[in-house]
Amino acid sequence: MEERIGRRRFMKSTLAGFGGFLFLSTAERPPEEKGIDVRGKERKIVYRTLGKTGLRLPVINMGVMNSDNPNLIRAALDSGIVLLDTAHAYMQGRNEEVIGSVIKGRPRESYLIGSKVSLPQDRTTGLYGDGATEAEFLRKLDLSLKRLGIDHVDILYHHNVSRRESAFHEPVLNAMAKAKQAGKIRFAGITTHSNEPEVIHAAVDSRFYEVVLTSYNYQQRHAADVRNAIARAAGAGLGIVGMKAIRGGFRQTPSAQSASAALKWVLQDPNVHTIVPGFTTFDQMETDLAVMENTGLTDPERRALLKEASLPGLYCQGCRECLGQCVAGLPIPDLMRACMYLYDYRHPAMARDLVVSLGLPRRVCGNCVTCPVRCASGFDIRRKVRDIVRIRAVPPEFLG
Ligand code: SF4
Ligand code: SF4
Repeated sequence: MEERIGRRRFMKSTLAGFGGFLFLSTAERPPEEKGIDVRGKERKIVYRTLGKTGLRLPVINMGVMNSDNPNLIRAALDSGIVLLDTAHAYMQGRNEEVIGSVIKGRPRESYLIGSKVSLPQDRTTGLYGDGATEAEFLRKLDLSLKRLGIDHVDILYHHNVSRRESAFHEPVLNAMAKAKQAGKIRFAGITTHSNEPEVIHAAVDSRFYEVVLTSYNYQQRHAADVRNAIARAAGAGLGIVGMKAIRGGFRQTPSAQSASAALKWVLQDPNVHTIVPGFTTFDQMETDLAVMENTGLTDPERRALLKEASLPGLYCQGCRECLGQCVAGLPIPDLMRACMYLYDYRHPAMARDLVVSLGLPRRVCGNCVTCPVRCASGFDIRRKVRDIVRIRAVPPEFLG
């Protein structure tokens, strides 16, 4: 629930500026606070509580995934953002290293880190095989902590789960329980980018996970199912973090107004406690920070959303309806995700890493006269697949 700050607290905060603001422990933060950031701008921040974790968070935090600019991350923290969301796999570890360089020397209670560890899954079924061990999960967590330069992360997510069975994968649960006991993680979370309702319900049923990080946006055809699953999870006390609010990270075409509207759309759901948009420029950060100060969706913003929603599909819904349709067994949703990394995030290195990791045959789609895959979003799958796999031929050093 959002509340208003009293005048006395406002004066105190304003006088102290964000220097004072930053050093409040996250549990002590009021529902809304004003302060002056390092660039002299007054900000009023709306907070919500992340379920039973009790963490008070601004409604906007930072998905660092696409940014290796330490100045941007620093500016985000200096502007009132508290939670930096990263993952073991992002930028092959560089993402966590850059965050480590930014947080070095900052008081540990002035920021929160959410990171994620994934284990190898069958790309078409989303299920784990023999390589998905407890030891491997813990090895990755230790390496993440080393890169970040800290002894614990605040939230560690079991990353990229799309099946109920995988949410219950015992080696992962054992590893997270051990890591928690060792003080390496404060809260256990789970992330889902596809088949989200099933995974969210599994997270509740597990009685193990404390935070869910889920795709949630106005263009999901199954948004109502996601909303219902989120409501159940929030009712059970889980913290809910939203991602992919701006159509899977699509930042190139939408105006600042429609990007802002997309973020606000998610925050109209009171069961979402915060979202972690992946801004990569200072302008985008300012757009997102404005939402952090005012979550109200205006009529022009509603109109902008309707206009965006009417555009033809650019965003893979992760619905997995194409799975099993490809005669060559290609992992189509992963390839569509690589398209998103390249064309939406403008991150060719990430797209290349993903495509290479899929172990595709040398010749792709060459044996099909026509493509039988019918995408629920109407994508021309063959054209998109043939387009994205070309990135394998680009030497990685060209892509940064
Ligand atoms: S054209 Fe490509 S995507 Fe379509 S069925 Fe053949 S191999 Fe699969
Ligand atoms: S059917 Fe289309 S939208 Fe659904 S996962 Fe496959 S590519 Fe994505």
